[in-house]
Parts: sequence; structure tokens; C-alpha cells
Amino acid sequence: MVKYVFVTGGVLSGVGKGIVTASVGLLLSSRGYSVGAVKIDPYINVDAGTMNPYAHGEVFVTEDGGETDLDLGHYERFLNVNLTRKHNITTGQIYLSVITKERKGEYLGQTVQVIPHITDEIKRGLRETARETGVDVLLVEIGGTVGDIEGLPFLEASRQMRLEEGEGSTLFIHVALAPELTTTGEQKTKPVQHSVQELRRIGIQPDIIVVRSRRPLEPEARRKIALHATLPPNAVFSDYDVDVIYRIPLILEEQGLGDAVVRKLSLENSKPNLEEWRSFVEKLSNASRPVKIAMIGKYTKLRDSYISIVEALKHAGAHLGLKPELLWIESSDIEEDKASLEKLSEAEGAIVLPGFGRRGVEGKIEAIRYLRENKIPTLGICFGLQLTVVEAARNLLGLEKAHTTEVDPQTPHPVVDLLPEQKDITQLGGTMRLGASPIILRENTTAMNLYKTKVITERHRHRYEINLKYADKLESAGLKISGTSPNGLIEIMEYEKKTHPFYIGTQPHPEFKSRPLKPSPPFVGLLEAAAKIT
Ligand code: GLN
Repeated sequence: MVKYVFVTGGVLSGVGKGIVTASVGLLLSSRGYSVGAVKIDPYINVDAGTMNPYAHGEVFVTEDGGETDLDLGHYERFLNVNLTRKHNITTGQIYLSVITKERKGEYLGQTVQVIPHITDEIKRGLRETARETGVDVLLVEIGGTVGDIEGLPFLEASRQMRLEEGEGSTLFIHVALAPELTTTGEQKTKPVQHSVQELRRIGIQPDIIVVRSRRPLEPEARRKIALHATLPPNAVFSDYDVDVIYRIPLILEEQGLGDAVVRKLSLENSKPNLEEWRSFVEKLSNASRPVKIAMIGKYTKLRDSYISIVEALKHAGAHLGLKPELLWIESSDIEEDKASLEKLSEAEGAIVLPGFGRRGVEGKIEAIRYLRENKIPTLGICFGLQLTVVEAARNLLGLEKAHTTEVDPQTPHPVVDLLPEQKDITQLGGTMRLGASPIILRENTTAMNLYKTKVITERHRHRYEINLKYADKLESAGLKISGTSPNGLIEIMEYEKKTHPFYIGTQPHPEFKSRPLKPSPPFVGLLEAAAKIT
């Protein structure tokens, strides 16, 4: 029998529900249970793919090509599993499916309503994912904050599931913020009390409360919250600010959260195996040798836009004992003021970040030229590789107006052009080349040296590709192909060692597969080269 753990949030969005959900998952999987995690996003978009990273942060791509919420990245990194598109449910998906059924006449004359049809569709989706993946426990994080209008059908569906699945098979964890007054330093519990009340008004009594606060929760605050929530004080846990997010499962375990979850789900308990995790956390937090990495992109004002890349740098850093210090460089600033290129002189390494569209492109190309000419170790990801090719075509091959047709459809030298299968596509949502596919690496290349195997898989999210017609010319300029897809698309390129100490560009996004205990090879390579430890 599958068990379901629902995680709701109170007081504010962004209190770290995703990390708490992932942490609960880790405490269960470290006890030998197989765990999956679903994120519910109550917005109307069918998936995260059409959303601006400024609004919702990075779009996380799953193996099967789902364009999902960034919380799935946390789940995959903490649980060390591959999730699927089905692990991210949105209001848009639920309505699309109910309306499609209605149009087909599947409701046989019924009036189609939020309750029961929308709530049934939500429950059906969760049960189907649990069944198909065969997990012991499915965690379900309900995005947003209790009290949001758009979240109501999901809370209602979870309330019904408690009734249908039974008490020992469902668990409700509420994560809410206890703010601290700067003047007195006092932890205030009233907002948590109110959000619990709001949850109860909907018919949900939380079993466990996780309180987010700056400092560890004081006994008096814990007692108050427990009393108001009709819970024993040992059902209230403290999720205080720590140096690294990967420490959160450990501080929750110390307080007995793992035991409490297992007990309430009527599962057998065992001693958790968290040794490897703990040693990773210690390595990460003790890594002291700084290495300055420039991050060149166009969404640099919201760091969550590139969260998997930042995490991948941390994983590689922990592995090597290095502490990446990130210098964020907004590419459009370079266009306005060339002096901002000078910031790059401080960098020991750089990442040319993924992206879309025209804004900041010339700035990125300027930065790439600087990184190439000054021999700064560089990793270009997706758009970062494509613009590396544009820069090489312009400045090494003398093809002055070379460009990607994404930015200049009329360019005389379309060195980056639409993938052939993209030419007839008219809809934007879910139509890119998406998800994991194999890449064949060439012998005697940096890529092969890093991955140490001939065939790898990485995840994609792009519409444009390096134009094969220019491959020979680019190679003659020193920019070599080091990986291709089985049908010959260029997947990885790199400057020859004699031209540049470390410059590699990848069409896929290696960051999505980086895990705490299994750092992604290109990130390891970049940091090694930046810190000159190769
Ligand atoms: N805009 C480019 C494309 O669609 C690159 C996408 C990316 O960086 N993820 O091909």
C-alpha cells in the first residue's frame, strides 16, 4: 500500500517547503523506503516551460523531457532519483484533461464541477503516478500558501485522500514561518497559528508542523504553536537558517522528524543511513579554497533562474575541496558599458549561461571573446555553446555577420539554425527538443577525459542547433566537435588544448543530472581548471 505525505505552506511563499519536502524524502529513503515526490503548482500554465525565469526561477527538465518546477530539481538531488513530467501537476493540466474528457462526452451528461470532477482528476493523477512508479511513499508538495484561492481544489483533494486512504496512509506536514522582530529578537508565532487555523477551516488537521525561522525555535514558541495546533510539542520541528541547504535533513533528523514520519505512516522504523550524506555536507561546508567563477547571463538578478547550475558548482566544489565564489555578470550591462568586461579579469573560470532571445546577446559574445582570448577556463551551456560558435565564426573565421537565426533570421552566415524538426512547429509550449538522449564522445577529447566513458546521456532543452555546414571550418579554427548525437547533431564542442587551457561548450544541460554524491563531469572539469589542480 502506497503512503502519501502532503506538504502545505503557510504565512509566506518561499519559506523552503521544497527543501523540507525533499528532506522528508531523504529521511525516508535513508531508512530503505523508495520515495517519489510530486510538486503541485496551482497556476493555469500547463507546465513551467512557457514561464519567464524571472517569475518562477529555472525550468527544470526531467529525463522524459518534462519542463517542470525547480522544486523537482531539489527532489532529484536529495532523493537521487529521476522523476518524470508526471511529478509536476498544474491547474492547467488538470483542467485541460477534464475539459478534453468533457468534449469527448466522457461525463455522460453530468454537470462537470470542481468537486467532484476536478478533485477526482487530481487524485487520479497522484494515484497513477504512485502506482506507475511503484514507490512506498509519494510526497506531494502543494505549492503556494494555504488560503490562496487557486490552491483550494488541491487541498480539498488531499483532504478527501485522507478519508479514502486512511489515517496511517496519509500524513499532513505544514511548513510555516515564525518571523523574528528585529527590535526585541522575539520569535512570533501568531502567523503560524493563523495559517494552521486556515488549514483547519478547509478541513485539514496537520500532523506535523515544521517552523521556519532565523534561529532555532525557542521552547516557548514551540509550546505555543503546538497548543494552538492541537499537537504535542514533539510534533513541532524547527527549520532554522543553516550554512547549506543540504544540512536541513540532518537538523530535522536530529530532532526526530524521520522517526515521527515513519511512526505516523505506520511503517517499520530502522536506523537511517545518512553517513555519505553527512560526509558530503561536511565537505561542502569545509571547502575553503575560493575559486572565482563568472556567471554570464541575462537573468542574473534572480539567482533561482540558474539554480541547478549553482547547485552543480557546489557539488563539484565539495568533491574538490573548492568553494566557488560567483561573480554575476548581466550580459546586457556589457553592451551598455564595455568596462564591465573588466570584471571578468578577476574570474578564474566562467560559465556562459543558457538563455533565449535577443537581449544581452552581443554582451555575451563580447564576454566569450574575452574568455577565449584571455584563456579563462570556460563552460558554455546550451545558448552558451551556440554563442561560442557565433563568436568563433565572427572573430576566427572572419564571417562578420555570423549569427544564430534565433536572433538574426536574415544572417548571411547562419552558424546556428533551427533544428529541422522545429521548422513546422507553431505552438511554443512543450515543443522544443526536450529531455535526455545519448551522446557519443570522441576519443582524445576533454569531454571524454571528464566523462571517462564513450556514451553518455544528458538532458536537452533547445530549438536551435549548430549548423553542420560550418563544422569543418569551425574545427579548422580550433573549435573541435567532441560529442554528437547518434544521428549526427553536434552536442559538445571544445577548443583544442593548444589554443585554450579549458573551454568546453555543451548543447545539453549537464547541470540537471548533477547530484551531491555524483557531481557532473563538466563542472568538475571547469573547477579543476579554474583552480589549476589538473
Ligand atoms: N535559445 C537556444 C535554443 O533554443 C538555447 C536554449 C537554451 O539555452 N536552453 O536553442
